[in-house]
Amino acid sequence: MNNFKNLRGTVDLLPDQLIKWQNVEKIIIEQLFRASVKEIRTPILEMTELFMRGIGEGTDVVSKEMYTFLDRGERSCTLRPEGTASVVRALIQNGVSSKPSQKLWYMGPMFRYERPQAGRQRQFHQLGVEFVGYESARSDIEIITLAWDILEKLGIKELNLEINTLGDQNDRSNFQKAFLKWLEVNKNSLDLDSQKRIDKNPLRILDTKNVQTKKILEDSPKLVDFLSEKSLERYLTIKDKLKLLKIPFIENFNLVRGLDYYTHTAFEITSGLLGSQATVCGGGRYDNLISQMGGTETPAIGFAIGLERLILLSGKDLEESRETDIYIVNKGLNAETMAMDLSRKLRNYDLKTELDLSGASFSKQFKKANKLKSKSIIVIGDDEALKNEFIIRLFNQENFENMEETISVDDVTKLDNWLDKNLLLKRS
Ligand code: ATP
Ligand code: MG
Repeated sequence: MNNFKNLRGTVDLLPDQLIKWQNVEKIIIEQLFRASVKEIRTPILEMTELFMRGIGEGTDVVSKEMYTFLDRGERSCTLRPEGTASVVRALIQNGVSSKPSQKLWYMGPMFRYERPQAGRQRQFHQLGVEFVGYESARSDIEIITLAWDILEKLGIKELNLEINTLGDQNDRSNFQKAFLKWLEVNKNSLDLDSQKRIDKNPLRILDTKNVQTKKILEDSPKLVDFLSEKSLERYLTIKDKLKLLKIPFIENFNLVRGLDYYTHTAFEITSGLLGSQATVCGGGRYDNLISQMGGTETPAIGFAIGLERLILLSGKDLEESRETDIYIVNKGLNAETMAMDLSRKLRNYDLKTELDLSGASFSKQFKKANKLKSKSIIVIGDDEALKNEFIIRLFNQENFENMEETISVDDVTKLDNWLDKNLLLKRS
């Protein structure tokens, strides 16, 4: 017999862990709803070409990390490594990119072939938010504050916001000329990976994790010095507004998002509590992407938050969040049928019920109800079933007899009253 195991870098989320996940997701979705951001869902599987164009062939994600395969029709398919390219495709394809503006979110699994470690998996989850059709500096601020507030609402501590500007394409190509000159002179002091990037994607060198290269880069030309007046003004506005809104930030002139289509604002949020995989959120403006992918020229900005890292940060696993309201003890052929029928009816109420399916003795079933700390129990034996009745009572109350009621299956009002009085619940 084979002992099957999950693939490296993938994770099973078991019920106890999912209590925390669901809680985090609920808070996120609520925040997004309150900010009028709407959900969009796109396929997990896309044409490989989409990501090559949408993310860029020189990037790590495309060159090293994609899960790509041929399907049975010999089409090259890729499991999405991120969400922006798919959202943009969906908007263009469905003709909605020409709508004036929209605020969208998505949440789900992403796939990257990376070395797994704490906070880094091959199948992981992201929340992404994209504001499409928004150009003003105020939309940059709204995006940043939205990400910041979600993280704060989740109680994530030691947050640091880093911002930078990448200017527009013109600013960047002016900078790149100066930067390439500097790179030529300093080439031999750089690590090998960075040296290789000089021809392919020089901007990305700024993002190196190599400590020595980082040190040398401190003296390199800075993009911010090559900004046009307009781009600089935009950047200053954003800094001013963040200060007014009391969102602390630091400027990191080496913060680049490696993709060619990024423009102006780039930002990252890290947490001091995360160790080496510190980035929880990465975002930026991508005014050129939609037109590059065949849509009409549309400014846009977005961010993505890694949910695994959020979960690592949001404290220990939670206890089961809601107790069982009613445990249905039942034994005997007729009783079992009646219990099934009753448990279906009880799902019309905002109640957490559990139907015992064991067929074990009454005392064993009581023990199970006790273990679950169920607030109340329904008891049905064949005697009750014969009379079309059931007994309902609060569980573990000393004088439970006062709370006990025998109710006929058809007497909805009596059941309503009992539930109302004892569990403070009404039928929904
Ligand atoms: P990193 O530098 O950590 O690889 P990245 O720049 O590749 O991050 P983005 O593409 O900006 O990451 O994705 C946004 C967020 O998604 C990251 O900040 C991180 O929280 C999360 N993330 C990215 N890759 C992974 C992964 N392999 N496992 C878990 N979370 C991830
Ligand atoms: Mg990465």
